[in-house]
Amino acid sequence: METKLADFIRDTPAGRDADGILRKCVHCGFCTATCPTYQMFGDELDGPRGRIYLIKQMLEGAAVGAKTQLHLDRCLSCRSCESTCPSGVHYSRLLDIGRSVLEQRVSRGPVDTVTRAALKHLLPRPWLFAPAYRLGQYFRPLLPAALKGKVLAYRSPGRKAAGNHPRRVIALAGCVQPAMAPGINTATSRVLDRLGIRMEEVDRAGCCGALRLHLGDEEAAKDDARRNIDAWWPSIEAGAEAILFTASGCGTQLLDYVHLLQDDPAYALKAARVALLARDVSEVIGAERDTLLRLIAGHPRSAKATPVVFHAPCSLQHGLKIRGSVEALLGDAGFTLTAVADAHLCCGSAGAYSVLQPAIGTQLRDNKLSALTAGEPAAIATANIGCLAHLQSGTSVPVRHWIELLDERLSAAA
Ligand code: SF4
Ligand code: SF4
Repeated sequence: METKLADFIRDTPAGRDADGILRKCVHCGFCTATCPTYQMFGDELDGPRGRIYLIKQMLEGAAVGAKTQLHLDRCLSCRSCESTCPSGVHYSRLLDIGRSVLEQRVSRGPVDTVTRAALKHLLPRPWLFAPAYRLGQYFRPLLPAALKGKVLAYRSPGRKAAGNHPRRVIALAGCVQPAMAPGINTATSRVLDRLGIRMEEVDRAGCCGALRLHLGDEEAAKDDARRNIDAWWPSIEAGAEAILFTASGCGTQLLDYVHLLQDDPAYALKAARVALLARDVSEVIGAERDTLLRLIAGHPRSAKATPVVFHAPCSLQHGLKIRGSVEALLGDAGFTLTAVADAHLCCGSAGAYSVLQPAIGTQLRDNKLSALTAGEPAAIATANIGCLAHLQSGTSVPVRHWIELLDERLSAAA
């Protein structure tokens, strides 16, 4: 695609990225076939190719307004289009650039402005979010059904493993996950402990920055990235093997630190090192598969009769391109996996999307739950806290992180 980017962006790192991405697109439209919002609205501008045109026009200096905002807001950032694109168009990076420019150009109504500000300021601050969420859990039985569904029932996280192994990984705690489902990282620590790996969480690290980036606040996302790098750096220099994440949505953001901080001379190289070390928990566990199989072998396969279904988050399958690994690990642990139709489609959670676009988010959730529960699983396993909470809001089937199921299986085997 020919481009003539406007002066305001042409010679910036973001402009160069956008130019390269736009030039790769050959307008073929293959991506529209797998785009959830195109399937829903049937409008070219609610598909990736249409959004690419809208962003291109904006970056070339055309006037933009509510129409561009509407169609970019409706994008889930699910990256299904990237999996389909034969030309390797890095759509999500282009969208981040487009949203950041759009946020400076087009104002929003008061309700949208307040909602976005609340999300940006409340969710990434655990000292604000955690007490509010805990209060919601405490009064959950009294909440009206619509609100009750938004709050996960409290589950005891159990003890964090304290084994002192020479092999160490840093774990990203994240912003909302420790309050919503603290058991995910404690379960991870226990599984790693059995595999001879110590998991460390570094207190000063926090939100990965994805939330603020996807809300169009690139500078705040850069601050999040710099704070995390500073917090992790001593452990990295001391020999941590990996920076592990249990929320795949956060993982895609850690990989994107490379783009985010490329023009920051103090952090560009460090960001590249962090991205190199970043690993989804399934990659870390998968690398220890032989040990895992030995741990499981010879014990009663109590999980074998338990049918579970795996919901692969978009960030895992389209963002990180990790496909089939979690299912294989669950199979190793003796779970029977039920099939899921249209597994490539988003569940509608998509970070803050389900709050900002509730009608679309709910429709996609209900479609996804129909597909997931068709095989009558006893539990739905997933790999991202946002998907977990969003899916749980629409079903009585327990929705768990897959590492919790593996931890329980290993506990039963011990
Ligand atoms: S990221 Fe998802 S919703 Fe957005 S254009 Fe691509 S496929 Fe469609
Ligand atoms: S599939 Fe790729 S090259 Fe084709 S229109 Fe979509 S983004 Fe462009």
